[in-house]
Amino acid sequence: MRPEALNPLFAEVQTLEGVGPKLMKPLEKLGLTRVKDIAYHLPERFVSRRMVADLDQASEGEQVIIALTPVEHRAPRPGSRGPYRVLAQDAAGNICSLNWFGKAAYGAKKLLPVGEARWIAGRLDRYGDMLQIVHPDHIEVESAAHMGRMSEPVYRLSDGLTQPRVGDFVEQALARLPELPEWIEPSQLERAGWPAWAAALRLAHAGSDAKARDRLAYDELLANSLALLLVKADGRRRRGQALIGDGALRAKLQLPFGLTGAQTRSIAEIEGDMVQEAPLLRLLQGDVGAGKTVVALNAMLIAVEAGKQAALLAPTEILARQHFETLRKMLGPTGVEIALLTGRAKGRERESILMGLLDGSIQLLVGTHAIFQDTVNYRDLGVVVIDEQHRFGVAQRLALAAKGKRAPHTLAMTATPIPRSLTLAQYGEMDVSRLDELPPGRQAIDTRVVPMERIEEVVAGIERHLAGGSQAYWVCPMVREIDGAPDLADIAAAEARFAGLKEQFGEAVVLVHGQLRPEVKDAAMERFATGQARLLVATTVIEVGVDVPSATLMVIEQAERFGLAQLHQLRGRVGRGAEKSTCLLLRSGQLSETGRARLALMRETQDGFRIAEEDLALRGGGELLGTRQSGEAGFRIADLEQVQRLLPVAHGDARLLMERDGGLTSPRGEAARMLLYLFERDWGVQLLRGG
Ligand code: ADP
Ligand code: MG
Repeated sequence: MRPEALNPLFAEVQTLEGVGPKLMKPLEKLGLTRVKDIAYHLPERFVSRRMVADLDQASEGEQVIIALTPVEHRAPRPGSRGPYRVLAQDAAGNICSLNWFGKAAYGAKKLLPVGEARWIAGRLDRYGDMLQIVHPDHIEVESAAHMGRMSEPVYRLSDGLTQPRVGDFVEQALARLPELPEWIEPSQLERAGWPAWAAALRLAHAGSDAKARDRLAYDELLANSLALLLVKADGRRRRGQALIGDGALRAKLQLPFGLTGAQTRSIAEIEGDMVQEAPLLRLLQGDVGAGKTVVALNAMLIAVEAGKQAALLAPTEILARQHFETLRKMLGPTGVEIALLTGRAKGRERESILMGLLDGSIQLLVGTHAIFQDTVNYRDLGVVVIDEQHRFGVAQRLALAAKGKRAPHTLAMTATPIPRSLTLAQYGEMDVSRLDELPPGRQAIDTRVVPMERIEEVVAGIERHLAGGSQAYWVCPMVREIDGAPDLADIAAAEARFAGLKEQFGEAVVLVHGQLRPEVKDAAMERFATGQARLLVATTVIEVGVDVPSATLMVIEQAERFGLAQLHQLRGRVGRGAEKSTCLLLRSGQLSETGRARLALMRETQDGFRIAEEDLALRGGGELLGTRQSGEAGFRIADLEQVQRLLPVAHGDARLLMERDGGLTSPRGEAARMLLYLFERDWGVQLLRGG
């Protein structure tokens, strides 16, 4: 049961004044459903504004307050995703366009009647010949008095929310903060000079206060470390089963290839864990194509040889099917019974699978989360393999682990190359095996860095490439978002590039970006996947969920604006077929030393681990960390830099607490329980009660 002191924080957002049914959705979209979520919705940055008499006095990119008089409203063409625009004039007669995307435009219509002067606050930009302010932060009738705050928080928004609204909700949430006992060691607090919890929250909203932000980040890291240590302690208490395979089934496998050194080593590590009674908890890391499946198969066969069952959990229906087919083929000569269970299985089919699991005739099960519903029971589950662990999370893993009579061994697999220093944060003290060697015969993707001035040659190269019957990607950067709306300049750049390429290649080109309606996007993707379209222009290829082996060329424009890990992921879209693939990184003229080093690294290596490590090192240096990148490391508050700096401290403190008070019953332990609730690591607390 959640401690009572936390109740005001866990009240629903609707209990805040001004949150009606209409705002529920946009708030939920940001993950803000409770009062505590609002309190923890920290500003992304702060702006300071300057009041200017006319537009000539302001420079581009500057945050200004200015009096403007609307002269004309221009709605977007029906069906287009363009902005709703209000053309407005300053005192000197200069025109500026005020732009809104999506639903935000509704407010604009009412607030900006033609001919009536208004105070506008926002960031002045230029688009072509036109000055513009996208989504002005404030519009006032009478005076600009309270828009001139030196430092104003800027919150992440979603469609339907405005800065003043969110600011108001935050204020209400902060007014409701209860007194909570301190969970941080007094010595640590003193050493770091951090404020108390409630004070830290207030300070973090009021200005860029590094100590306050650090304290809140540390709290989150401490909660995470504690929860993971509780899982570990629980695992140690529960008995697993030692599984010793005789190798008979593995010997019958007919693989069309020999294992790589890394595969052999990983299999040995896993087998070494499974012969022990303590349940195995291991993470298998390896780039896409590194050959994780066959390693997983070996782990599962060890269990089957030992007379137990094995289950493989995939994140999606499609992946579950793919795994099922692959494994069935490999298992051919072994006679092992394998079944597929997804949410789609109904009626008789489902019944028969459930029976088979219960009587043990099904030895190996592949499926989606459907395989750990309450109604699914195993005769004797020996090992669970989880593909793409980060999508499931520890809570689900625990639910699955509870299925075995004794705790089953758990092997998690991920293709995300996580730097070593972050593995701890995401996976706690799991043991890690790394497939750091690709199977032989893989063609390296020929990666080149090309200055932007040579774009015409690049386009000519694409022409030859398409003429040869291949397909290509053209990726435009879409890195920034302004207040929940994509950066107009980025979208404009992608649209412009598309228009230019279309002049040359006609119907063979399609465009995909996040501002298109899903049907339009899907149709474009479909045309590319089926080969009708030959060139795909896209803002992020992350949206491109398809595998197109005949696409063997990728151009990445303004490559220097991407994170290296992101470039690595993008590049992984080519090089999937037998053909040699090429990746061209287009860079703009002036690049810093570090910028050059980053792109050179991409050219030099295809090793996702190395790229991830170096990316982190380079960004830790601060060059690209202009905006806070929390979320990237899997945390809501802590950003990458804080994770690196504070995690070791938090982890050490969590261990110390566990050593002294593993049941969390001392006053500090009780406070730590609250922290676990606050950061939704309640599964950690649940384990306490169970043990
Ligand atoms: P991952 O799941 O790590 O992305 P897969 O297990 O799907 O990779 O393997 C990718 C491809 O490489 C598959 O076609 C697989 O058969 C093949 N493969 C795996 N191991 C080897 C190996 N040692 N030698 C050659 N090919 C291999
Ligand atoms: Mg795989």
